[in-house]
Amino acid sequence: MRLLAKAGAGLLSAHARAVTPCLWRGKYFSSGKEPVENQPVTPILRHLMYKIKSTGPITVAEYMKEVLTNPAKGYYVHRDMLGEKGDFITSPEISQIFGELLGIWFISEWMATGKTAAFQLVELGPGRGTLAGDILRVFSQLGSVLKNCDISIHLVEVSQKLSEIQALTLTEEKVPLERSDGSPVYMKGVSKSGIPISWYRDLRDVPKGYSFYLAHEFFDVLPVHKFQKTPQGWREVFIDIDPQVSDKLRFVLAPCATPAEAFIQHDETRDHVEVCPDAGVIIQELSQRIALTGGAALIADYGHDGTKTDTFRGFCGHKLHDVLIAPGTADLTADVDFSYLRRMAQEKVASLGPIKQQTFLKNMGIDVRLKVLLDKSDEPSLRQQLLQGYDMLMNPKKMGERFNFFALLPHQRLHGGSHQSNSRQSKPSPTPVAGFSELVWQ
Ligand code: SAH
Repeated sequence: MRLLAKAGAGLLSAHARAVTPCLWRGKYFSSGKEPVENQPVTPILRHLMYKIKSTGPITVAEYMKEVLTNPAKGYYVHRDMLGEKGDFITSPEISQIFGELLGIWFISEWMATGKTAAFQLVELGPGRGTLAGDILRVFSQLGSVLKNCDISIHLVEVSQKLSEIQALTLTEEKVPLERSDGSPVYMKGVSKSGIPISWYRDLRDVPKGYSFYLAHEFFDVLPVHKFQKTPQGWREVFIDIDPQVSDKLRFVLAPCATPAEAFIQHDETRDHVEVCPDAGVIIQELSQRIALTGGAALIADYGHDGTKTDTFRGFCGHKLHDVLIAPGTADLTADVDFSYLRRMAQEKVASLGPIKQQTFLKNMGIDVRLKVLLDKSDEPSLRQQLLQGYDMLMNPKKMGERFNFFALLPHQRLHGGSHQSNSRQSKPSPTPVAGFSELVWQ
């Protein structure tokens, strides 16, 4: 707990953050169903209808990908959808404590693995940059611990709009951003504390090297294929034009088996399954990198361990939104299947979790941190925000049990020693991984 106490001593100051009755994407919503005739024909709908007319029905994965990240009109590409005025709110936007504890997690892992001379912090889907900002503030506050460590930040982001907002949040305005549209590193800047930041569209373009990877509410927006068990066997769900209603889409089942069926486990007992191959590719890349160069990945999202069925849903203005209506105007998401992520790691690395957000944050010392901040703030409205934020993050009926933490680590991190170690020598016993057990400061 010393690290927390230390972070609390110099720090801060509670930062004002919105905790009005916004809702998050973990299914806490009122019905947002509108009559079809009131829904506009969006540019993405027009584009998809044209595509379906030319080449036939499309998979749910193709639909999700087009709707969310089409470079011209995708939902994520040109707007800021986060926060009270947007469509959903996330933990880092609710409370500064969330990012601070994650910052401490990375420092604690860095220390447990021998304090390398340098590390990269790589965030996938950084939203407004709020989480990275809170982590960087902790890194600054703990500068004496991290001194002589060469840190760089690498952000993987497809949204032009959000990358601009991230730059505003994180960089020192006096140092101009470097832009290079055609290059894999499409923007470069320097953080307020002097740390270099680079932006990429694809994880594969991030330099390899000792890295900590972070993905918060990222995997749930990756495209899923959906399959339904029928008396004839598994059939993939497709999206087609509704012949009864003009400008309307509908779900249909493939008349015969499709190649994507290979994703279904032979012993699958559910009658409806969602599979996210893009998540599998990213997990394989992360696992290879971590196995090769060390570090860790921390993944936090809502999801399940291979038990849920139909979780594909849309959010608009903090309400549930029909996924097929006015595509491009609402967020689309599906719960993350952590059992699939674990399988995709292919034992190249060890995995921990998923564990509930409430347990993870408790283990990281959220109660101590809250107390430090409350003791330091006299302003009643700020104290109220801190308490409301804590409740949103921790209450099992709110985000506490809906969100999960999952980590990928080199095998030797959990079992001690290294691949090279002589088996006759006694292995040093590894420190427990913070969050997944109580934070212990060595
Ligand atoms: N992590 C943030 C934002 C979550 S929203 C938070 O918790 O507040 C999802 C984020 O992933 C957005 O920044 C979105 O633009 C980004 N994103 C969506 N699809 C992506 C993709 N295929 N590659 C990289 N980033 C993506």
